[in-house]
Amino acid sequence: MNKITEPVITLALSKGRIFDDTVPLLAEVGIQVTESPDTSRKLILPTSDPHLRLLVVRASDVPTYVQYGAADIGIAGKDVLYEHVKEHPGGLYQPIDLDIAKCHLAVAVRKDFDYEAAVKQGARLRVATKYVNVAREHFANKGVYVDIIKLYGSMELAPLVGLADAILDVVSTGSTLRANDLVEVEYVKAVSSRLIVNQASLKTRTQYLQPFIDAFAKASQGNKA
Ligand code: AMP
Repeated sequence: MNKITEPVITLALSKGRIFDDTVPLLAEVGIQVTESPDTSRKLILPTSDPHLRLLVVRASDVPTYVQYGAADIGIAGKDVLYEHVKEHPGGLYQPIDLDIAKCHLAVAVRKDFDYEAAVKQGARLRVATKYVNVAREHFANKGVYVDIIKLYGSMELAPLVGLADAILDVVSTGSTLRANDLVEVEYVKAVSSRLIVNQASLKTRTQYLQPFIDAFAKASQGNKA
């Protein structure tokens, strides 16, 4: 008779900060990641737990893999989730704030640009960002008219070459802004990464998924201390 094996749970995450901060979380619950996306070209990585494998995808694609059930669970920054949920609502639970890859969304301008004065005068501002929905909402709440220019990366360049008056981007230490003679003028939202779960998977595979969700909840307690 064939042995019935437990299904494998697939976790989607991006390389870089989120991957680097997830490895210690998994280690806390006894799961080792045996290969690194920095040295391996594999996009599906095994772990020391035969019931867990990792999918390495672009940060902004993580919610899509989970929403469509190609991954059961995922780890995504709140910045990516704000945008994703606005455009593709439903299909995802966000049960746990893992308190990893912490940073914030901010508005920044060139050092020599008087943002306060421009806002007071009711000037129409050009804002470059990857976070179009967050930006629209932020400036609408402030009553500032903006033209939003969608970029996919290197936002810091836009004010330096006259493409935009301001950017709305992720800031962590602030060194990228400083290196490009930009200053933060508004704090928009705190960002950290959340565990996300496919709603249908949670219903149909609860017994396999719940232990992983509980393990992440337990491991992330240390980050909240
Ligand atoms: P920093 O120079 O430390 O302020 O980092 C800012 C740059 O790193 C920005 O260009 C961001 O796009 C990127 N970054 C920093 N922290 C994160 C994070 N937690 N998630 C995604 N991108 C980040």
